[in-house]
Amino acid sequence: MEATAVSTSAPGPEEFDRNVPRICSVCGDKATGFHFNAMTCEGCKGFFRRSMKRKASFICPFSSSCTITKDNRRHCQACRLKRCLDIGMMKEFILTDEEVQRKKDLIQKRKEEEAAREALRPRLSKEQSHVIAILVEAHHKTYDESYSDFTRFRPPVREGPVTRSASRAASLHSLSDASSSSLGHSPESTDMKVMNFNNLLMMYQDDGGSPEASEEESPHLSMLPHLADLVSYSIQKVIGFAKMIPGFRELTAEDQIALLKSSAIEVIMLRSNQSFNLEDMSWSCGGPDFKYCINDVTKAGHTLDLLEPLVKFQVGLKKLNLHEEEHVLLMAICLLSPDRPGVQDHARIELLQDRLSDALQAYIRVHHPGGRLLYAKMIQKLADLRSLNEEHSKQYRSLSFQPEHSMQLTPLVLEVFGSQVS
Ligand SMILES: [Zn+2]
Ligand SMILES: [Zn+2]
Repeated sequence: MEATAVSTSAPGPEEFDRNVPRICSVCGDKATGFHFNAMTCEGCKGFFRRSMKRKASFICPFSSSCTITKDNRRHCQACRLKRCLDIGMMKEFILTDEEVQRKKDLIQKRKEEEAAREALRPRLSKEQSHVIAILVEAHHKTYDESYSDFTRFRPPVREGPVTRSASRAASLHSLSDASSSSLGHSPESTDMKVMNFNNLLMMYQDDGGSPEASEEESPHLSMLPHLADLVSYSIQKVIGFAKMIPGFRELTAEDQIALLKSSAIEVIMLRSNQSFNLEDMSWSCGGPDFKYCINDVTKAGHTLDLLEPLVKFQVGLKKLNLHEEEHVLLMAICLLSPDRPGVQDHARIELLQDRLSDALQAYIRVHHPGGRLLYAKMIQKLADLRSLNEEHSKQYRSLSFQPEHSMQLTPLVLEVFGSQVS
């Protein structure tokens, strides 16, 4: 192959035509391409080069009219060389030794450059690929896409007296629905909807006044039992996921608890993005009973101070179009944040988190074309989660202070959210 590349003249167009039989014009043997200006076999190519270099002069032992074939081509060098020249082989096409060497050097240099490029190409280490595979599997084991367990929760109840906050959310939501259906399903419709949604949020804010200010002392929260069970279930799954993150189980029990208590709600918000639907701004977890809109969550005691930024967060996250690998890495990075309150072995957790961040950055470089800014955007999402967490804690606290509501919560929810480490 290399010899051909070195000594062959530019290939003729015929060479690319598979239908043209490649026959040596000198002897009729199978040709390997154009050599010194004619289609020949390797044997005749070598013969011509040697003859020209030696400046050989041959004499035909017969009558100078031998027919050259594959089998007899060695018998008469004179007629073979004459045939070479007759069909147009030219000694000018033979490279000098220096030219051959230069070509070989060039080929070698190209190979080395290619090897250098290959070495620089971003790649995932074996360990990083392994960690990612573990996290993806951990997520599959703890996130049931059929949502079949939801039927075991206390059932969702959407009727009941409408609170002021809930009615605002309802009008907000129905307006958002109307605007989206009139816009149709063009590719930009999602963006348009988000824009409309933002306008609606602003309208809501312009309305003035605090939504809870004039609310009845203790509104009936019809969705609280169901959503408390859903959150409790999700906490269990987050704990299951955390335990499978490489290194998590080796932390002290105290640190494991500190990390879980402070990050559980953030990881729940992250994982819920999988069911979040940009079309109607709801979380769709199976049938209509388990499709949750903003209004439903207000009926579990949360106000728009949490739900507005939460929905914005869900929209922004959804639009990053994360690969599953990136999604699970983000959850693990969130869980292993060393700056959580109550954490003792700060350095060790930081090391684990750094390892995950490196894996995420490497993954994006290798597998996410055009993802140059993706890592930064993902880290921004973690910052957004901190403020959502803060608002959630605030609202949870005021809810749990009311015994008729806190009695609806599960022991796990009370344990994880109940005594916020501060
Ligand atoms: Zn030949
Ligand atoms: Zn002859």
